[in-house]
Amino acid sequence: MAKIAMKTPIVEMDGDEMTRILWRWIKEDLILPYVDLKTEYYDLGLSSRDSTDDRITVEAANANKKYGVGVKCATITPNAQRVEEYHLKQMWKSPNGTIRRILDGTVFRAPILAKGITPYVPGWKKPIVLARHAYGDVYSGVETKTAEGDKAYLVVEDEKGNVKEKLLIHDFQSGAGIVQGMHNMDASIKSFARSCFNYALDVKMPLWFATKDTISKKYDHRFKDIFAEIFEKEYKEKFAAAGLEYMYTLIDDAVARVMRSEGGILWACKNYDGDVMSDMVATAYGSLGLMSSVLVSPDGNYEFEAAHGTVTRHYYKHLKGEETSTNSVATIFAWTGALAKRGELDGLVPLVEFAKKLESATVRTIEEGEMTGDLLPLFHAEGVTPKKLNSREFLKAVASRLQ
Ligand code: NAP
Ligand code: MG
Repeated sequence: MAKIAMKTPIVEMDGDEMTRILWRWIKEDLILPYVDLKTEYYDLGLSSRDSTDDRITVEAANANKKYGVGVKCATITPNAQRVEEYHLKQMWKSPNGTIRRILDGTVFRAPILAKGITPYVPGWKKPIVLARHAYGDVYSGVETKTAEGDKAYLVVEDEKGNVKEKLLIHDFQSGAGIVQGMHNMDASIKSFARSCFNYALDVKMPLWFATKDTISKKYDHRFKDIFAEIFEKEYKEKFAAAGLEYMYTLIDDAVARVMRSEGGILWACKNYDGDVMSDMVATAYGSLGLMSSVLVSPDGNYEFEAAHGTVTRHYYKHLKGEETSTNSVATIFAWTGALAKRGELDGLVPLVEFAKKLESATVRTIEEGEMTGDLLPLFHAEGVTPKKLNSREFLKAVASRLQ
């Protein structure tokens, strides 16, 4: 059988630990036999980031900007323990943070639904898609420790260096502490708002947005105002025509409403809220291994990935020669998302069709009762006795259906 041809390369960003192992197997078992795969490869594994002083991450993000479509494996964000473990030159920043800063845009996370996997929240009948603002706030924050007696200020200078505003953050006279500064940009919030409104119209879902503007009267309030202005001017009529609603509320109220809802909502979150809530939503729908993720930039670049991390505990088992049963579904869907988008942009119908077939073979494998251990306790389907497969067996089971 002739392999499916590609025109433009996909930017391939390799990663760490168990997901790096799955990455290679997914390519070997599910993609390379069928696709004449063209990628531009960037190794974002921690050792490679360290040896290139993290330049590799910036290069990968720029390549993603150049070609338009990238697929990324989960990567370690180093902490103090990782600095020791990998003998790092320094505690490099989160590669996802770096890529998001360069591409801007919004991360959309949607659960992958399979018949038989019932959400932990019994009321959730439809997917909840999470839109995470991918720029700024605490992810590009500046922070430091302060000593007793220090005073910390928020200072704003104009272009000439004249102090425009100086606000006392805290007087640490009663003891040492910590302080943090963060920012966001009107332009980024505007493109976040537009991508959410557009995506809601695309997938025909109502949009909810929430911040804590009652407490953060300047910072969070700016988000609320920008969304309201853009909605009023550009989207109100389109939403009305589509019979969709846009609702703004407070983040704690949104959390309560989401829990009570039956799903079928696009939930727009600030960067940190999106980070936290996407893991909650993913877990509630079954497993982190069933959550797909795509970063969409305002100028139309796409970076596909799984929402979960490198699954460290499984990796150490793997290194000891023990069997693992790690869910590869979200990583498979990162690949199919990238292949389908590449096919769509290049007008390659067979590539798009291949991606859809791989997705349905993957879901069908689970629905027919063959799955990794994380899904076993969640699976209930009449007449189907679920069977636990190890990491590689699951891929082979998908491969046989794909074949
Ligand atoms: P994690 O890798 O997502 O794993 C947390 C736990 O969730 C696992 O130990 C496992 O539970 C379960 N899990 C997650 N994905 C799974 C899968 N595909 N199949 C089966 N079980 C799965 O999160 P973490 O332990 O907080 O972080 C590990 C590393 O990943 C860290 O170095 C972090 O920096 C990095 N990380 C990277 C990204 C990214 O690149 N996008 C995102 C998050 C974290 P059990 O152990 O109970 O089986
Ligand atoms: Mg996270």
